[in-house]
Amino acid sequence: MQLLTVGSVAFDAIETPFGKTDKIVGGAGTFISLASSFFEKNQGLISVVGDDFPTETMTEMEKRGINLTGLQIKKGEKSFFWSGKYHNDMNSRDTLVTELNVLEHFDPIVPESYQNSNYLMLGNLSPQVQRQVIERLNNRPKLIAMDTMNFWMDIALEELKKTIALVDVLIINDEEARQLSGDYSLVKAAKTIREMGPKYLIIKKGEHGALLFHEDNIFFAPALPLEEVFDPTGAGDTFAGGFMGYLSATDDVSFDNMKRAIIAGSALASYTVEKFGTQKLMEINSSMLEERMNEFVKLSEFSAPVLV
Ligand code: AMP
Repeated sequence: MQLLTVGSVAFDAIETPFGKTDKIVGGAGTFISLASSFFEKNQGLISVVGDDFPTETMTEMEKRGINLTGLQIKKGEKSFFWSGKYHNDMNSRDTLVTELNVLEHFDPIVPESYQNSNYLMLGNLSPQVQRQVIERLNNRPKLIAMDTMNFWMDIALEELKKTIALVDVLIINDEEARQLSGDYSLVKAAKTIREMGPKYLIIKKGEHGALLFHEDNIFFAPALPLEEVFDPTGAGDTFAGGFMGYLSATDDVSFDNMKRAIIAGSALASYTVEKFGTQKLMEINSSMLEERMNEFVKLSEFSAPVLV
């Protein structure tokens, strides 16, 4: 297995200024693996659902090369459910409901066929569960990336720091970076956080793009200016999935390749927000993705100014 993802596979109910959904398929693990499957077909997912989760979605994921041996299906139990409502600016949201259900006692079993994975993407989950997966792998993957959120900083900071110390790339948003480091300046925050363990830090700034920090290098990628953002749910997970899928498929963890991986993640995320849930990710194809990646190149391409 080249790429292994851990993350929630869930139902979401979303309310935005543009509309409202009943329960639809969501979950960090779902967005990550669907996004990474555009690049990496040799991948597996560790997660848990109840027997209420649609088999058609699982079949669709398998068709895209996502191995589901590590997806536990609990008979008579319900899948994780999350509901959120976005404010008018679409940048902030309130969580209305979090029903852990099967996630409450999730024991992330690593199937034998997932051992020796080269890339590991830890989606947003309890830091103990994320760490368990690292500890249950016989060999440390070549690259471990991790997403997390302010919720874990509020209730399990020490556990979170123990897991952060074990990963290579931490992917968080600007508010989370400020909370985790106690620094307002993102450059200072990046330094403080990298002293906690990760050699690389990606700070997502929503519609304002993303920053990659490594040693003395900083790379900035814009987000594509979109006329309409319909539903931002899963944009961060899609970004992380595209990023890791690209690195894993190219098997190159140089800083230069990480820049390309960030553009791959940003391009996929720009599609995710155009429709509710995973709908748009399910509709696009590789040529649409390539087109959008080229738009990113054009967006900030310029030749060095000539001094006269
Ligand atoms: P994002 O918009 O990138 O923050 O990701 C949204 C996805 O994360 C939704 O599809 C939810 O199902 C999932 N999610 C929300 N809260 C949690 C949580 N506490 N643990 C795991 N997954 C979550």
